[in-house]
Amino acid sequence: MTKLSNSASNIAVSVIPHILKLLDLNGRIGILQGTNCTDCNAISIGVNRYCPNCTSQNVSTQDLSKKGILTNYTIVRRAANLWNGPVPYILGEVLLPEGINVTAELINCSPTKVYEGMKVDLTLHKVAQDKNNNSMIVFKWIPSDS
Ligand SMILES: [Zn+2]
Repeated sequence: MTKLSNSASNIAVSVIPHILKLLDLNGRIGILQGTNCTDCNAISIGVNRYCPNCTSQNVSTQDLSKKGILTNYTIVRRAANLWNGPVPYILGEVLLPEGINVTAELINCSPTKVYEGMKVDLTLHKVAQDKNNNSMIVFKWIPSDS
């Protein structure tokens, strides 16, 4: 007789699955996804059913680059109530080669060392566990030379 286990192996889940697609069960490998419009050639962040630029439904999903350039940032010194990370932290706007901006926390960088034009890489982080003990994964930016 086969004994069934109640403890299913826990996996990693993306907190924002329409933008961050995980490529492994541990949440260590993932990619940002965008939507490419056949009619106006606009690329937008996330998997969309229609183009946010021209409303066409002739769209397809496209993987986005894991590297970009920091084009704007702010140093957050007073975080929102549910923020459980360190303060101050850097919120960075990153321009991808596809021509779209993606905003996320910039980590492994001192607020005194951040600058516009910095090369950054995508990185994944576990932020919590859901009710099924799955790891909840978000993306952040990290300086390319760190
Ligand atoms: Zn369009």
